[in-house]
Amino acid sequence: MVRPPRLKRMLSVPAVDAELMRAQFQAFSRQVPLLYFILLVNTASVAITHLASAPLWLSLYIPLGLGGACLYRCARWWLLRRRPLTTERAVGEMRSLVWVVGLFGFAFSCWSILLLPYGSAYQQAQVAFYMSTTLVGSVFCLIHLRVPALLLLCIVILSFCGYLISTGDPVFIAMAVDMALVGVALAVVILQYWRTFTDAIQAQRELQTSQLNTQRLSDDNFRLASIDSLTDLPNRRSYFASLRAMAEQAAARGGSFNVGVIDLDGFKQVNDIYGHASGDLVLQEVGARLLALGEPALLFARLGGDEFGVLVCEKLSNDALVELGQRICDALSRPYQLAGNVAELTGTIGWAAFPDAGSTVEQVFERADAALYVGKENRRGKPVIFSTEHETRMRRLSLVTQELRHADLEAELFLEFQPIYDLPTQRPIGLEALGRWHSPRLGMVRPEEFIRIAERTELILSLTDVLLRQALREVAHWPADLYLSFNLSAVDISTSARARRLIDIVAASGVSPQRVTFEITETALTRDFEQAASALTMLKQAGCRVSLDDFGTGYSSLSYVHRLPFDAIKIDRSFVTDVDTNSASKKIIKSVIDLCRNLGLECVVEGLETPLQADVVKALGAHAVQGYLFSRPMRSGAVGGFLQTALAQRQATETHS
Ligand code: C2E
Ligand code: CA
Ligand code: CA
Repeated sequence: MVRPPRLKRMLSVPAVDAELMRAQFQAFSRQVPLLYFILLVNTASVAITHLASAPLWLSLYIPLGLGGACLYRCARWWLLRRRPLTTERAVGEMRSLVWVVGLFGFAFSCWSILLLPYGSAYQQAQVAFYMSTTLVGSVFCLIHLRVPALLLLCIVILSFCGYLISTGDPVFIAMAVDMALVGVALAVVILQYWRTFTDAIQAQRELQTSQLNTQRLSDDNFRLASIDSLTDLPNRRSYFASLRAMAEQAAARGGSFNVGVIDLDGFKQVNDIYGHASGDLVLQEVGARLLALGEPALLFARLGGDEFGVLVCEKLSNDALVELGQRICDALSRPYQLAGNVAELTGTIGWAAFPDAGSTVEQVFERADAALYVGKENRRGKPVIFSTEHETRMRRLSLVTQELRHADLEAELFLEFQPIYDLPTQRPIGLEALGRWHSPRLGMVRPEEFIRIAERTELILSLTDVLLRQALREVAHWPADLYLSFNLSAVDISTSARARRLIDIVAASGVSPQRVTFEITETALTRDFEQAASALTMLKQAGCRVSLDDFGTGYSSLSYVHRLPFDAIKIDRSFVTDVDTNSASKKIIKSVIDLCRNLGLECVVEGLETPLQADVVKALGAHAVQGYLFSRPMRSGAVGGFLQTALAQRQATETHS
């Protein structure tokens, strides 16, 4: 490898530190006019005083040439001063400056050395004075440029001192020594200043880096605070921030957009059956499937639990919205592979349009949620667009909620009882208590309606207490071989304390716990399976019976039967409705009856309405049955008469046979 000549290396400006170089150049730029002012004024004064004593080429033409070069450089500076200082430009300028300064130093030194022999001693002193002041002035103007400043110092001192010494004149020699010493001092000043300058730039750079890091850190924190760590989707906070921004924009421009809320059906079962790790996998997969839809105009977010949000940046027609919603639901309802297991889930989505359905962020979201609520009740796995019908439902919901909150439960709640029969003997074996509410303002409210509302507001706890006490008071008047079947809600078995309370109420009534069956629906078990299981075990240990209600309407029903201590299963009436026409319903009823027989459980077939249905289920091996065919639910006052009639009928049949 060829080593570059030493001088060239010394004078080269390495582009290692672009930032430092830019700072140097910027600092120097500010001194440029001053530098050329010093050069021009000093040169002009020496030239003028030598006009008479020195030849014209020396006293006029050369200074004019030098002055012209100064003016050219100065003008160039003026023209380029606003141009953006890129790293390349700074490096280029710095490199050319070394040569320019070298040339200028050499030219001015030669001129003054050539001028020295002319004129009087005063004029000679003036030239020496000119050299020193110009040198000091120029060096200070170049102080930010270490290499050019040192180069200038060397050229001027060496050439001038060399010449002065060569004259052999003691005064000139003294002057040369003096100049050399001042030159050394100036070199020290240049180096020291350089160190201070680079330190300051370094400190500034460190400050910028630390500011940059702080900014990056705060950006990261912001990102983390707005991203759901499980799915990597935006979180609830971020969703509402986007929703707010879109609403503001749409309101300002008169635009509109759609808001969606998605809820998974069957997610809790996955959590309960396969564990939370599998639940997490499902949520991650849901996030991935939503993103894989690859819709650029959609923003998905995880709002919490198994609830996801969608924002559609444009207003779609209802048809397009249904089509999009269906695509989302279809993507979510594909089977989920979980370490050896396959989970089946569906997603339901509620849509609402801004500003048609709601003109505030809260309103439009609430309405999408209302559409979802309706969807989850009637159209699981499908998109539902908010409509005025939902609005009416919401109004009714809030009205009933208000009335229920202020209701005098003791006075307004009452029970109806529906007998459970033994089909072969046609004998009542128990009665199911069904809650009723007569509100002074609303009149009779359907149990599905007020019970769901009570469940949402936790009013269900007081409601259960009141109804259970009422029911137990009735049982005391019934024949001892009849049991009470009482419906519980998820909240009733959500803590051990609540289960304990039910046991205490039964104990305080004096009714034998063996005569009390608590009915729990599958969906009630899905809230917190472990807790529900332990509450049911407590009820069992207290001597009560537990029964699985509405069997077949939920998910993974069989797994509950195996894992929980049930005494009975009630087959949902939806299977009975078409048992005489639908072979699938028939098969299901048959297999559940057989399953119960194998497990030693009682099986109650609900909802029998026609003698034909009764014949079919009887042929399938059903024993316990319930339905309008035998008796509609009756007020407590009617139970006594009913039981007497039933007894009389039985005695009459027994006598006949
Ligand atoms: P469920 O526990 O499945 O109760 C049976 C429902 O089916 C009752 O409706 C009953 O009147 C009705 N039913 C009985 N036989 C037939 C029939 O042959 N055909 C038809 N179409 N229906 C029949 P109800 O009283 O309206 O209760 C509805 C639901 O409300 C109940 O369903 C139960 O889940 C809930 N519920 C009622 N009372 C209470 C209560 O005191 N506490 C709780 N937590 N839930 C209750
Ligand atoms: Ca029931
Ligand atoms: Ca039922």
